[in-house]
Amino acid sequence: MVKLALYFKAELENITDVGPGGEDYEWHFKVKCTSCYEVNENWTKNDVPGSRGTANFNSDQFSPIVIIECRGLEFVDFDPRFGFSAKGVDSETIFENIDLTEGYWADYDEKNIFFIKGWSSRGDFRFKI
Ligand SMILES: [Zn+2]
Repeated sequence: MVKLALYFKAELENITDVGPGGEDYEWHFKVKCTSCYEVNENWTKNDVPGSRGTANFNSDQFSPIVIIECRGLEFVDFDPRFGFSAKGVDSETIFENIDLTEGYWADYDEKNIFFIKGWSSRGDFRFKI
């Protein structure tokens, strides 16, 4: 069995602890069969047990957000979609159910504006053994 770590990066402003929001977060991947190398062009929904957790990462640096056990397939694309959570820097504000379907997210509180950007290219992830 192969274990793959999913790394991602994004441009962050005033935001940290970005990652899947909870056990019910739905991971969407495109997968490639490791026998015939055929890529399934449909997004598949995947349960990743024990994937709860967040990454403390710096803006624009690849950081691991989840480790996935793979049998007979390889991940070739990732779409964060809906359901990430994050925390404001120097702020106790927690953001949940973040919608990244448009490739970016923004919110604000009384002190700050918060941004997650850089998803539009869909290239801001990487899988590593
Ligand atoms: Zn196959």
